[in-house]
Amino acid sequence: MQYRTLPHGGENISEIGLGLGIVSPEDKPERLLEGALEAGINFYDLCAAYEPVYEAIKPTLARNRSKVFTQMHLGATYRDGNYAFSRNLEKVRATFEQKLELCALGYTDFLMLNCIDEKKDLQLVLDNGIYQYALECKEQGIASHLGFSTHNPEIARELLNLGGFDLFMFSLNAAFDFRQDGELALGETAAREEIYQLAARQGVGISAMKPFAGGQLLNKKLSPLGVALSVPQCLRYVLDRPAVMTCVCGATRPTDLQDYISLFDPHTDSDYATALSGASVVGSLRRCIYCNHCAPCPRKLNVGLINKYYDLSRLGDDLARQHYLNLEHHASECNDCGHCDKRCPFKTAQMERMHEIANYFGI
Ligand code: SF4
Ligand code: SF4
Repeated sequence: MQYRTLPHGGENISEIGLGLGIVSPEDKPERLLEGALEAGINFYDLCAAYEPVYEAIKPTLARNRSKVFTQMHLGATYRDGNYAFSRNLEKVRATFEQKLELCALGYTDFLMLNCIDEKKDLQLVLDNGIYQYALECKEQGIASHLGFSTHNPEIARELLNLGGFDLFMFSLNAAFDFRQDGELALGETAAREEIYQLAARQGVGISAMKPFAGGQLLNKKLSPLGVALSVPQCLRYVLDRPAVMTCVCGATRPTDLQDYISLFDPHTDSDYATALSGASVVGSLRRCIYCNHCAPCPRKLNVGLINKYYDLSRLGDDLARQHYLNLEHHASECNDCGHCDKRCPFKTAQMERMHEIANYFGI
């Protein structure tokens, strides 16, 4: 397992998180949780988890309280045991308090305004006192960090600009990022990319959801891009986006966890670039997507990371400039060998770009 540090707070969060919403009591959630802990997963999303699931995981969660981070949602309510959502303050508050008590956690690490996808949702959350209640939870130590979940980059922008959030949950995968017909996900490629950059600039992390586009990305026949990615390739794509802290995956069996954890096996092929370049909308991109498919560079430049810091810095992220300066090797060391230009499936003219980057940073 690898970990990423949350800019606001400094917590080290596992790159893979576990979503407990699809687990049923028959799946033996306590064993699943034990397996996830053993694998080093320390980030748990509790949205939509059934009551018996809370009961089952309670002892393990309580025993490991100081080692795990929980993400709970304000507005996720439950009707007849099934997931629903509400903008009614009393209902929202009662459900959250009941869930908190059910798993005997005492507090949640992340408290998210749940599923704010439209302006009217946002308005209701602000007008009905739900946002205010979230602030009170934070003040009282019931929540360590505030966040929100959305599928809409426009709403994400509004909330990021409202301020006060340290993490947000966003549906993120290559199909949602590149499929442009609006059928799959909200927001065009540029708008989605801007949100990742804005979040990185503000030091707000992303807990990504839907990394496999509901499984469609894993199957060529179903894939909205016409190309399939493997599980590790999907995960690596998500984790390469700016600001992403963790990729929250659903699991019902221990083998699901093994599939996710295989990402960290050095023999696993998680290079998504070649597969993605077969999708016409991605292959003609002519923009660096930080995939490092062009590695190794003979001058030991980390081409993906250099490009990421450059893009972020140009948008005003001062920390990205600092990160760039701290790199061991800089764009000015490029010797124009042309290897990355030959290897890049997205025709980024990287050699030229290295000169541009060296001029920009002065090194
Ligand atoms: S130059 Fe191309 S291959 Fe290299 S990191 Fe960027 S997108 Fe990937
Ligand atoms: S052109 Fe420059 S950045 Fe690209 S592989 Fe060669 S030395 Fe590295």
